[in-house]
Amino acid sequence: MKVKLKSFTPVAYWHWDTRDPDDVCGICQNQFDGVCGTCKEPGDGCPLLFGKCTHEFHLHCIMQWLEQHSRKPLCPLCKRPWEEATAEKYQEETAAQQ
Ligand SMILES: [Zn+2]
Ligand SMILES: [Zn+2]
Ligand SMILES: [Zn+2]
Repeated sequence: MKVKLKSFTPVAYWHWDTRDPDDVCGICQNQFDGVCGTCKEPGDGCPLLFGKCTHEFHLHCIMQWLEQHSRKPLCPLCKRPWEEATAEKYQEETAAQQ
């Protein structure tokens, strides 16, 4: 899904083509264009998930992290309570703020 935003706030990136190429997953330290530590094929098989805090991780990385910290799921980067945001939700919220 492609959405064109007139004012783009650089706090979160959803489109892979606007991503900073040096951005890495905070858990496995692999680039987002690559794969998590357990996958071999980049792409749909190893999607990204981002939280309401706007940090994003490989789905597999954050799932593993949340399993290990299931009593108190926090974002590994900012230590805020982890709440996952879908792209649709994120875009809705962004649209609502405009
Ligand atoms: Zn990762
Ligand atoms: Zn993966
Ligand atoms: Zn965070």
